[in-house]
Amino acid sequence: ASLPAVLGADLQVPLVTGECVGYANLDHAASAPALAAVAEHVAEVIPFSASVHRGAGYASQVCTSLLETARATIGRFLGARADDAVVFTRSTTDALNLLATAVPGRVLCLDVEHHANLLPWRDVRRVPAAATIEQTLTDLATALAEEEFALVAVTGASNVTGEALPIADVVALARAAGARVALDAAQLAPHRRVDIAAWGVDYVAISGHKLYAPYGAGVLAGRADWLDAAPPFLAGGGATLAVDTCTVRWASGAQRHEAGSPNVVGAAALAQACRTLAPVLTDAAPEHERVLSERLSAGLAEIPGVTELSIWSDSTDKVGVHAFTVADRPAGYVAAYLSAEHGIGVRDGKFCAHPLLDRLNPGSGAALRASFGLGTTTEHIDRLVEALDTLVRRGSRWTYAPVDGRWAP
Ligand code: PMP
Repeated sequence: ASLPAVLGADLQVPLVTGECVGYANLDHAASAPALAAVAEHVAEVIPFSASVHRGAGYASQVCTSLLETARATIGRFLGARADDAVVFTRSTTDALNLLATAVPGRVLCLDVEHHANLLPWRDVRRVPAAATIEQTLTDLATALAEEEFALVAVTGASNVTGEALPIADVVALARAAGARVALDAAQLAPHRRVDIAAWGVDYVAISGHKLYAPYGAGVLAGRADWLDAAPPFLAGGGATLAVDTCTVRWASGAQRHEAGSPNVVGAAALAQACRTLAPVLTDAAPEHERVLSERLSAGLAEIPGVTELSIWSDSTDKVGVHAFTVADRPAGYVAAYLSAEHGIGVRDGKFCAHPLLDRLNPGSGAALRASFGLGTTTEHIDRLVEALDTLVRRGSRWTYAPVDGRWAP
């Protein structure tokens, strides 16, 4: 409550941020600042700490209700079917690792994925993305015709370039081959309404900290049958129906995979974020972002030596995530310069998508990434473009050197 509330200038969605005045946070793809409504809700619920599902006391009833109401709210936010499981996890990484324990067969994914959707699968074929979406879909179809797959796991929007695959096309291909579809919606959900039922996807994974809620709460939502047939993700209290010294009867549904005391505050915070975001994500946020994205891409294109990266030449849908390189300047150096001299926070490196970055930027692979959120303004975009232009044309005021692996003035 002692933190200043900052109005998302164009969208008027109050955010809470401890960032210094004037800081241009262009790193929402990593984690987004909390919504004021989320911080207020956390302050309301934090006084209640008691046994969830297994206590008769008032605080216990409050905590149980908070957790289960959050589950229902998040399920609705994601457009889950009535019989889908909505399992609380720590994050998208956690959610996809859980799903990986439940897939009864081989998994097909593209090589553009975040490591969270690349590494958990045990029996996996990773198809290189082609230069166009059209060809990439054809390549997925070819792979599906060559072998049997239980699951196609794709990103909703790339955490590197923001490009989004046409989900309906992926679902149609997978269905025709008898495979299910999992959507890594870590980057998509903060920018667009996800609709599990309407899109016909089978599983969706999200992270609270990218949805303007705190760290440590995520969700896997989707078909219950595989999850009920899988071993419990964690063994322990809460995941069981009955235990004696020789045998265990495990619970089914979300409970099966939620052993241990749950993160009630995280779940309630994420649900509050969903309630606040739902109306904004329908059109105001995508439109706000589209304008900012066009402005940034146009600005970057004007600067000599600055190259925006993209996976597909025929992309038609993109969320506000942009990756670029600056000729002859290490990405870490440029990121340090932007922070120290212009108060701009971007990310640099390979964004936990090494196969993709090695392909998009052969050599070091490292690039810069500017990503938008509800509080991003045209001033932030213009400041970034001007700062890059200054660097390229006049150089930086200070000298920078790598210190312990990071560039610093
Ligand atoms: N998938 C994508 C597309 C992401 O951008 C991220 C986070 N960068 C993840 C998965 C992993 O999310 P988390 O770190 O919250 O588990």
